[in-house]
Amino acid sequence: MGEIVFTGGSVFDGSGRDPFPGEVVVRGDRIAAVRPGHSPAPEGATVIDCAGATVMPGLVEGHAHLTFPSAVGHLEPRFNPPVDVSFFGAPPTAEEHLALAERNARILLDAGFTSAYSAGSLTPGNVEVQLRDRIAAGEVPGPRLRAASFERDNNPVRHGAEATTPTGLARFIAEQAALGFDSVKLLLSNDDVFVAGGSMQTQYTAEEAAAAGAAAREAGVWLNCHAQNPESIKLAVRNGFRSVYHCSYADEEALDLLEEHKDELFTAPAVGIMWANVHEAEEFGIDRAMAERMGSVAQLEAQTALYPEMRRRGIRVLPGGDYGFPQTPIGRNARDLQLFVDLFGYTPAEALVAATKWGGEVMDMAGELGLLAPDYLADLLVVQGDPARDVSVLQDPANLDVIMQGGRFHKGGPA
Ligand SMILES: [Zn+2]
Repeated sequence: MGEIVFTGGSVFDGSGRDPFPGEVVVRGDRIAAVRPGHSPAPEGATVIDCAGATVMPGLVEGHAHLTFPSAVGHLEPRFNPPVDVSFFGAPPTAEEHLALAERNARILLDAGFTSAYSAGSLTPGNVEVQLRDRIAAGEVPGPRLRAASFERDNNPVRHGAEATTPTGLARFIAEQAALGFDSVKLLLSNDDVFVAGGSMQTQYTAEEAAAAGAAAREAGVWLNCHAQNPESIKLAVRNGFRSVYHCSYADEEALDLLEEHKDELFTAPAVGIMWANVHEAEEFGIDRAMAERMGSVAQLEAQTALYPEMRRRGIRVLPGGDYGFPQTPIGRNARDLQLFVDLFGYTPAEALVAATKWGGEVMDMAGELGLLAPDYLADLLVVQGDPARDVSVLQDPANLDVIMQGGRFHKGGPA
């Protein structure tokens, strides 16, 4: 296919600049031009009429779990901790799990997410590495993926006393790197979902966190973590963790540290699951009392106070996170943008920047992903309406006229 011109609509380029009437020209897998106004298309070009719509960069999910089983149209009530975890009583084989993850990847791409940064695999093994590589090779449709290891706690009963030492942990990280993961996920804090009072328990010592940081640098992988309490957040930042998730109970010192290192790290609250647990999950056995027991009520309240401050300090907070449960099936991820606006005080345009420009940065593809700009990869959406005024339009896939990834139409295209 020759040149493709998206014309007649408005352009939101991902930088935060106001949308403007304009057009986007794609050649091969890249964007050739982004320009205001509408000019006659050159001979032989494919013209996509975007009247009434906005051309914008593809969305990036900042805390993906493509190996979690629930997706839109495929709810799996047996993975719903702590209500039901019988999924693990009859876990899928590696082949079945890859097929499930491939299904989820397609559903996430169908929802407009052309990239995803993983926050952890559900099971040990390398299913996510295979998924990433199959997507990259064009064998299955899905978001560009950064794959993350099994989410590791530091429980000596589970891992053995020898494994839960600085040396054992360093070996674990080297093993995950050798499996091909881009990042290793550690549960630096526990969570109320797993054990009463867990969010305030730190599961790694300072020596272990330092050994993890050194091992990750040595192996060339990133570290991600689940960190709810102040101590776990500080351990993460001081030891070079690249993504520090949740952070619900950050204190002033933790916030200062996050701000001090804001050019090197990302956070994501994964607020969607908290919101769902508190407001939308009764049919899945999570009533108010259960949401309180799971810590969701307290975390939602804490995050609602905390994240406006993160925003004020310019810390890169990414939308998305913890979709894959029955109450947050994969495919609904764009709802997070609305929660950023409603709960955290982001303008719609700021929420979009977090999901696009910062998304390109968390993918480690700044300079070629996350914006509509010359030489960037042609990952773009044509969305009915103006998401820079109303992000809710992104929640209905029927509004996505076009989903393009690397210059290829995943959805829509020439009539
Ligand atoms: Zn998660």
